[in-house]
Order: sequence, then structure tokens, then C-alpha cells
Amino acid sequence: MECPICKGKMEKIVDEIKQDKVGFEAFKCSSCGEELVNMKQLKELSDKYRELRKSKETIFAKWGNSLAVRILCYPETARHLKTARHF
Ligand SMILES: [Zn+2]
Repeated sequence: MECPICKGKMEKIVDEIKQDKVGFEAFKCSSCGEELVNMKQLKELSDKYRELRKSKETIFAKWGNSLAVRILCYPETARHLKTARHF
């Protein structure tokens, strides 16, 4: 998989949303540091959040070719996750 920003090599990493201590898998560009999550990774992450805060909702949105996740009431999380392209 190549980076949509710089065409560098994307590598699988495990990152963590520090404020919630929620680990997640993502792809990180070894050249520019861009981080992306794909559908499967996004789903796993949203499942974790659903367990963590049962009353909250996770929203998946598709804007054109881009996939984005918006987790209600968690602006930090939304900022942490970049929009994924070209999956
Ligand atoms: Zn890159």
C-alpha cells in the first residue's frame, strides 16, 4: 500500500488514543508520517469505543472518495484519525 500524500511506503502500526487508552491498528507512512485507518481497522476501533462508552454513538461518513470517522463528543479522537483515501 502506498501513501496517498507522498507515495511512500505505508506500514502497519499499532497506535493508541492516549486520552482513552484505546489501542488501534493503522497504517503509517514511513516517509511523511501520514496515518490512515482502513474500514476494518475503523470498525475494530469503533467497537472498542462502543464497549467503552455504551451510550455514545460512532458515525461513519463517506465524503467522495474519502472515508472518515466521526466519534460523537470526542473531537480529540476525530482529530487523531486522518481521513483515509484510496481503499
Ligand atoms: Zn507519505
